[in-house]
Amino acid sequence: MENQKTLLSADILHTLKCSICDNFLTVPPITITSIYGNEWKCGRCASVMTELNIPAIMFELIAVNLKFPCIYTNCDEDLAWGDVKDHEKSCPYQPMKCPCGETVEMHSCHMHFRQHHPEIISKDSTIMENPEYSQFHTRLILNNDIPFLVYILCDRKADIKVS
Ligand SMILES: [Zn+2]
Ligand SMILES: [Zn+2]
Ligand SMILES: [Zn+2]
Repeated sequence: MENQKTLLSADILHTLKCSICDNFLTVPPITITSIYGNEWKCGRCASVMTELNIPAIMFELIAVNLKFPCIYTNCDEDLAWGDVKDHEKSCPYQPMKCPCGETVEMHSCHMHFRQHHPEIISKDSTIMENPEYSQFHTRLILNNDIPFLVYILCDRKADIKVS
């Protein structure tokens, strides 16, 4: 029989948040960062220095038996401990900031580009540098209808005007 994992109630989940990024404590290692034991840090923030950094081993042992919701609002996947990090990287509901200023969920990126920025969609796999939208360093390349989002970084020191 498959090991049944428990989904925590929303009330409990909201008390179990990282004190740095405010996301659920679902990416290990989880550490305790206050001497009172009431502040924690998640693995997403592992590189952030904190005075205290005590491994919350008991929490991780319990978490193995739990399921957690995805941190992205519109995603309704429940994830097992250990699967969260990989899921967050590819979750279709993760918000992306389009260079036009709008925030678009990854799954609707293609649609957003088609509606608002058709000029940056390339149907063959070439990128033409057009000065008209050179400040727009993003292109969507359609290769056999599979979209690839490309960010272009170019060094154009010669073009920088000082006024
Ligand atoms: Zn965090
Ligand atoms: Zn998700
Ligand atoms: Zn846009």
